[in-house]
Amino acid sequence: MCPFTFTAVATSTWPESITVKTDFDAVIVGSGPNGLAAAVTLARAGCRVVVIEAKDEIGGGTRTRELTLPGLLHDVCSATHPFAAASPFLRSLPLGDFGLQWRYAPIDMVHPLDDGTAGVLHRSLDDTAQGLGVDGPRWRAAFGPLTRRFDELVEDALGPLLRWPSHPIVMARVGIRSALPATAAARLFLTEQARALFLGCAAHLYQPLNGIGTAALGFMFLAAAHSYGWPVAEGGSAAITSALATMLESLNGEIVTGVEVMSLRDLPTAPVTLFDTTPSAFVRITDGRQRSRRASAYRRYRHGPAAFKVDFAVRGGIPWTAEEARRAGTVHVGGTAAEIAAAESQIAQGVMPDRPFILVGQQYLADPRRSRDDIHPIWTYAHVPRGFSGEATAVIRSQIERFAPGFTERIAATHVMSPAELEDYNPNYIGGDILTGANSLRQLFVRPAFGNPYRTGVDGMYLCSAATPPGAGAHGMCGYHAARQALSYLQRDHQIMPSPTGGS
Ligand SMILES: Cc1cc2nc3c(=O)[nH]c(=O)nc-3n(C[C@H](O)[C@H](O)[C@H](O)COP(=O)(O)OP(=O)(O)OC[C@H]3O[C@@H](n4cnc5c(N)ncnc54)[C@H](O)[C@@H]3O)c2cc1C
Repeated sequence: MCPFTFTAVATSTWPESITVKTDFDAVIVGSGPNGLAAAVTLARAGCRVVVIEAKDEIGGGTRTRELTLPGLLHDVCSATHPFAAASPFLRSLPLGDFGLQWRYAPIDMVHPLDDGTAGVLHRSLDDTAQGLGVDGPRWRAAFGPLTRRFDELVEDALGPLLRWPSHPIVMARVGIRSALPATAAARLFLTEQARALFLGCAAHLYQPLNGIGTAALGFMFLAAAHSYGWPVAEGGSAAITSALATMLESLNGEIVTGVEVMSLRDLPTAPVTLFDTTPSAFVRITDGRQRSRRASAYRRYRHGPAAFKVDFAVRGGIPWTAEEARRAGTVHVGGTAAEIAAAESQIAQGVMPDRPFILVGQQYLADPRRSRDDIHPIWTYAHVPRGFSGEATAVIRSQIERFAPGFTERIAATHVMSPAELEDYNPNYIGGDILTGANSLRQLFVRPAFGNPYRTGVDGMYLCSAATPPGAGAHGMCGYHAARQALSYLQRDHQIMPSPTGGS
């Protein structure tokens, strides 16, 4: 059983039999990390808060379940958490007291190549540079300054980008490099190991990697790795939202599960409502309340390519040829930098590549209690075109087999989630887009529409999901920023001065 199934919440149907109070200052629709981050921010400031979740279990993209065999804990969605560990909001909370502990694999990430060598990412910049041979000094020059000032960088980068930064020099430095196409930035390095290591990180953007600005996520992911590592949550990613929910409960917040909000009639009245939903769901739920310009911007909001998720139960773990990959929390499978760039361009054009880019999570290496005896949970997903309706299990198996001969023979059980099943699982993953919106250049800056990204144009209503800056990830920063806007509104327009129960 997953240790973080949150049971202390109401699970009845809304609104007939629900027994929550009706005098709330704030209602939050959706209990993903951003919904709960918003709820905690408001509750800490003294607001009376209720969270309403469509599914029977809280957590959105952070749930953990026994997907393959009893006793094996798989992260259903998010797995590795550099940005949650670095999140100024999450770090400001005593989440350790509510059960969240970060755990680290011996090696953070490995990118294996066909010749049996690999690019190896350690939390230590020195160890990584040393392993990269002639590229060591280049790696140090690229990531040393960013790593040293990473806390200043995240303060600006984990928020709206269209504003004057608090640390303009650091942002300018990262901005110049980030403006490069990822394929050009990878050529800063000479060896295939370093190029692939960089490009695999940039590929988390889910965009053609020869586009302007696509180097950004590569720099951010790697600087995060050298500052905070790529940890997993002990017991599973569900620990992140379980800790937020338990903290919310300690602040007298309430959570109702099993209630899908279809219209404003499904909600208790409150001065502010925050939506951990897609922009299109917001338009549907508010049904004509939004100013038409904002509503059409929300309708034009673009979703990106999809994930095809396969979890495996593997006897003895994956027999990677590159020995370092056997000790890595994350393995990027996709071959050379050029091969990954080609695969990402294909999926953007709606074509399924023969050899897609695949992420492999071996969280049990950081957190051995997720395994049972010698059978280990392995988390994988492939980048596939948006709405892909084919089968990708075999291609995932053969891509892993390519770098780990004998893998297939060790598989004891498999669990598959296609893009359609991912959307069914979480309405925010439209067409299987796990980022809640494409990371196009435009949407990196304008997400989801011009102007204040959290305001919806409906009085007292805010969007707080990963469709707002800084975008996808279980860092809670979208929810935090949206809640700060809602708090100013409560204080300014409703003269509600909640009495703080914690810092805000
Ligand atoms: C396969 C996969 C792998 C990923 N890997 C990582 C990773 O390793 N690291 C990382 O940081 N991130 C990862 N992510 C992304 C991460 O999970 C999301 O970016 C993050 O969960 C977004 O948080 P959120 O609060 O905005 O939305 P979500 O987590 O999507 O939560 C939204 C919640 O709102 C609820 N909801 C929506 N509409 C309604 C409604 N009308 N009424 C009531 N409730 C509603 C949903 O049921 C859901 O619970 C991954 C995602 C997937 C799917």
